[in-house]
Amino acid sequence: MVELDTFFFKINSWSFTKHRVWNRCQRQYYFEYIAPYVKSAPIVNPEKIRWLKNFTSKFVVEGQLIHDIIDKQIQLYCENKLMDLAEAMNAFSKKVSLYKNVGGETFTEYHNGEKITDSFFSAIEANGKVCLKTFFGKWPGYQSRGCLRHEEFDHFSIGDVGVTVKVDFVGKQPDGTLVLTDWKTGRDDDEYETELQMAAYVLWAKEYYRKSADEIRTELVFLKTGATKPYAFFEEQLRDVQEMIPREFAAMNASYEYGDFPARPSQRECLSCKFAEVCPDVAIGKK
Ligand code: SF4
Repeated sequence: MVELDTFFFKINSWSFTKHRVWNRCQRQYYFEYIAPYVKSAPIVNPEKIRWLKNFTSKFVVEGQLIHDIIDKQIQLYCENKLMDLAEAMNAFSKKVSLYKNVGGETFTEYHNGEKITDSFFSAIEANGKVCLKTFFGKWPGYQSRGCLRHEEFDHFSIGDVGVTVKVDFVGKQPDGTLVLTDWKTGRDDDEYETELQMAAYVLWAKEYYRKSADEIRTELVFLKTGATKPYAFFEEQLRDVQEMIPREFAAMNASYEYGDFPARPSQRECLSCKFAEVCPDVAIGKK
């Protein structure tokens, strides 16, 4: 029987990120969320796991950099200060340079043996600037919305299952309707996945703001193209998600034994996996 640190049980909740990892590779899920807390006879030293968790996939970093810059600009808006495109572009370029100057050595892919080329940095800089321009171009349409919340972790419960969400921007229209906005900085071609994420946001907002589903709108804004995709949910759809989340959470917690988390290796996933170095089933050559 595996003994886990009590802290694990304090922070153990369902989130959309966990859902994605769980469905991508359960072994990766084990390393990310369980292995750091194993107290007796660990498969991999928890210290080592915690160290590997410091690396971040280059694709995740790209999205985070853009989100961070946008979030700072939204903070200015929320404080009734002027947003500044030139400052945002400048801050973004500086952040990309910091990664470039060290050759991307904090990227998971680098740690897993991939050389990070200059063209990667040029591409993320160009893409990031397009995203920021799009964001600034669209923002006048948001100025009628009151600023309620942005990029904060929030928690709610479905039965006894804790759920963690983080909405990019929660605005309130003059008629009282809430609009939950998520900025997408890359391609997103998985329809179901996105709907699940947005539905979880609505479930949180219903409880947090004491609103009904028809008083809450959600939208994805694709910053590469400027397209906006609205989502509306009926109570019935939300009920399905309310049932699905505890079911999936139960499966995630049915066992904490390493052997119950099968690996699903693929070259693409393993190259971006923080735990490739310690995973015996990795599909790429180890360093
Ligand atoms: S290295 Fe590959 S198989 Fe192993 S945990 Fe990571 S994604 Fe899964």
